[in-house]
Amino acid sequence: MSIRVRFAPSPTGFLHVGGLRTALYNYLFARRLGGVAVLRIEDTDRSRFVEGASENIIATLRWAGIEFDESPTNGGAFGPYTQSERLDLYRKHAEILREKGEAYFAFDTAAELETMRQRQKEAKQAIRYDRLHMRNELSLGAEASRELLASDIPRVLRLKVPDSGELRFQDSVRGEIVVQCSEIDDQVLLKSDGFPTYHLANVVDDHLMQISHVIRGEEWLPSTSKHVLLYRAFGWEMPVVAHLPLLLNPDKSKLSKRQGDVAVEDYRAKGYLPAALVNFVALLGWNPTADREIYSLQELIDSFDICKVNKGGAVFDLQKLNWMNTEYVKQLDPADAASLLLPAAREAGYEVSSEYLAQVFVLLRERITFLHDLLSVGDYMFHAPQEFEEKFRSKHWKDGSAALLRPWLARVRESSPFDAAGLHELTAAYVEEQGVGFGKLMNPVRLMITGKGAGAGMFDTMALLGRDESLRRMDHFLDGLAQ
Ligand code: GLU
Repeated sequence: MSIRVRFAPSPTGFLHVGGLRTALYNYLFARRLGGVAVLRIEDTDRSRFVEGASENIIATLRWAGIEFDESPTNGGAFGPYTQSERLDLYRKHAEILREKGEAYFAFDTAAELETMRQRQKEAKQAIRYDRLHMRNELSLGAEASRELLASDIPRVLRLKVPDSGELRFQDSVRGEIVVQCSEIDDQVLLKSDGFPTYHLANVVDDHLMQISHVIRGEEWLPSTSKHVLLYRAFGWEMPVVAHLPLLLNPDKSKLSKRQGDVAVEDYRAKGYLPAALVNFVALLGWNPTADREIYSLQELIDSFDICKVNKGGAVFDLQKLNWMNTEYVKQLDPADAASLLLPAAREAGYEVSSEYLAQVFVLLRERITFLHDLLSVGDYMFHAPQEFEEKFRSKHWKDGSAALLRPWLARVRESSPFDAAGLHELTAAYVEEQGVGFGKLMNPVRLMITGKGAGAGMFDTMALLGRDESLRRMDHFLDGLAQ
């Protein structure tokens, strides 16, 4: 069997992190098995259509490094297929179902449907289309229907769902699913605006695009029984289905905007690296080996197995994502880190070179969660400190500090070459002579040069700032004390 999967977002807003996981699992599945991944924009619900949403979804997928393989116009590209450009196909297939007696037109108004629902509610019945008593081709008979069909009265096409019987299908994640036909409504297939519903367009496309596996979020599981009926009605073979577990907040409620960001866009804007977010999202519901959590995209591809995806909801743990981002930031190539950071550095007014930024990154990469933290955590690498942390100052700046520093400063002024190893050597000799610990000298140095109590090794920091800048800051600090 040739493997073909699809990711089928509706352009109703930004790509949700759950959508990113669905896209990723489809992509991993296709890549693992040498198959094809198709991107399909499902935009037939015009009331929920958001201008620009599909462009944004595509840009976000590209940012995440998730690629698709096929395009309606040029064979090998990213896509997408767009359902609103395929309306004739859905109408044609709707007609086929009607001719087969599997679907029928219904002419009920919104008010009539509402009355029906009220009646069912009062009688404590399940709310579903009452085929026998409402106005449709089946209840009215051929003669009356012909007249209505010829008129311009609005109509919808509905699927004729069997009144009884059991549907069974296998889900690769959830196992066997059993649904009673009596629980399924006569689903609308074509709306009165002539657009297909999600169900019709989705099934027709999955069939025409020869999709072998449908991998999507659990929220679509209730739709699947309708799809099973549609495949049957057409006489088509059904693809394998796999429904991915829900994403949950830490309190186990369904992941929602109220408890944090849900749009991939928000994580991108906050500075998460795409590889970190992809790694994190990949482990929402699956873990290749259980003995570690950092995997490259290739490792994820090599080990992806849809049958190993968990059934239970996956908790979205922001702290874990932050930890992963820290790990990915550390592993960045310094030149890449510099080019990613350069625009933000320029915006902050730092006229530094990429080379210098790369060196600052190497100096401080262990101390940041986001790359842009470098500009705040390491602000003193771009300008002299404007403030000095009071707690650190009162703890480490003593009456004798200036006197202890001056002879050392004289040696620093003369040291050659001015590098971390040389500074370390001359300082070791000096503190030994003075009979004091390193901290007694170096904490005041840190205060004068960085203004902060924490940072990278001081000799490395000074070497990168250079002799002139390091001395200028210390002289300035000491001069300030003297006044
Ligand atoms: N258009 C649906 C969505 O927005 C696709 C569901 C499916 O994959 O079948 O998620």
